[in-house]
Amino acid sequence: MVVEPLPEAFATMDAEVRELLDDRSVVLDAHTHLGVDEDGQALELDRLLGFLDQVDSGARACVFALHDPDRRPSYRTPNDRVLAWAAAAEGRLYPFCRLDPADDPITEGKRCLALGARGIKLHPRAQAFGFDTPAARAIFELARDGGVPILIHAGRGMPPMDALADLAQRFPEVALVLAHGAIADQAMFATRLAGHPAVVYDTSIFSPFDLIELFARVPAERIVFASDVPYGRPIAGLFATLRVAAYAGLDGPERALVAGATMDALLAGRPPAEATAPRVPAVRVVNGRLARAGAYLMMAFGAAMGSGPPPDAARVMPMVALARAVCRDPDPGAAGPALERLDGLLAAAEGLAAQGSDRALAAIGLVMAAGVIAATDQSR
Ligand SMILES: [Zn+2]
Repeated sequence: MVVEPLPEAFATMDAEVRELLDDRSVVLDAHTHLGVDEDGQALELDRLLGFLDQVDSGARACVFALHDPDRRPSYRTPNDRVLAWAAAAEGRLYPFCRLDPADDPITEGKRCLALGARGIKLHPRAQAFGFDTPAARAIFELARDGGVPILIHAGRGMPPMDALADLAQRFPEVALVLAHGAIADQAMFATRLAGHPAVVYDTSIFSPFDLIELFARVPAERIVFASDVPYGRPIAGLFATLRVAAYAGLDGPERALVAGATMDALLAGRPPAEATAPRVPAVRVVNGRLARAGAYLMMAFGAAMGSGPPPDAARVMPMVALARAVCRDPDPGAAGPALERLDGLLAAAEGLAAQGSDRALAAIGLVMAAGVIAATDQSR
């Protein structure tokens, strides 16, 4: 096994994923990376396949390079590595080519599409570019002519992204995947691209509230599961995605669209299923006990992000302790079972964190899962 085994505490999440997923569902992670990043993250083929196996032995993924130190010129070397890894993965990986609009993107894009690339990845923060440019338009033309989707970072670190919405409206035939639930400008995209036939939002998001709100702002048929591994984990991402989808009232076949069928259609050049009205109401009932616990868990996650990688347990765990204090409620009311489950996950997170920094990431995975449960429990 090339992947560290899942901590015991993940068993209940794993069981819930099985319950929410139909046996025949396609699982397709829309956002994964291979290679090396300047920030120290790295992922190799065997480990990526191992993480996908934790979800399902048939799970597939779209894959692209990181902010690789070998990216010049034109991302050619990382793109070639991704193409070779995908070729070795027996059909489980769809390679996307990463392009830098300032570094001969069209030559490189054409070269990769001819070699079998199935999509294009753009990172406007890492490559520091805007969308109101001839190069960005040329990349959309390339995607249109090649019939491939473009996945674009729309998460942390971005200025307002109206220019991308303008460009998407000019190219309605180009399937567009807005990464990280488009949290950089979620309301703007949801409003301005409401009529776009092929824009989808990926679910690699750290706040469960952003994920819930996504189901309140855009059609369920426009939401696709993604983990952003190595920054996230497919099993944890799918748990959060399916749990929020169930909270939003999606039935089994609708959850299967989110888990992979919608992304599978886009990759095959088919339109996504017809859009329906967003499922989650704008104003929602929350349980105060769970809201308190959830707030501390978001603070714990913020402390992990601010101190890592790897996360500093000394900064994270005091917030986890406060969340556990909320769980210790002699009169929990309807939140009782959820608080008990949270406490079990958080106790396991404390145990893992105490084992040292190489287990801290798994501990944070449990903290995030607990946050998802706190945000989506519906017992009244
Ligand atoms: Zn990413």
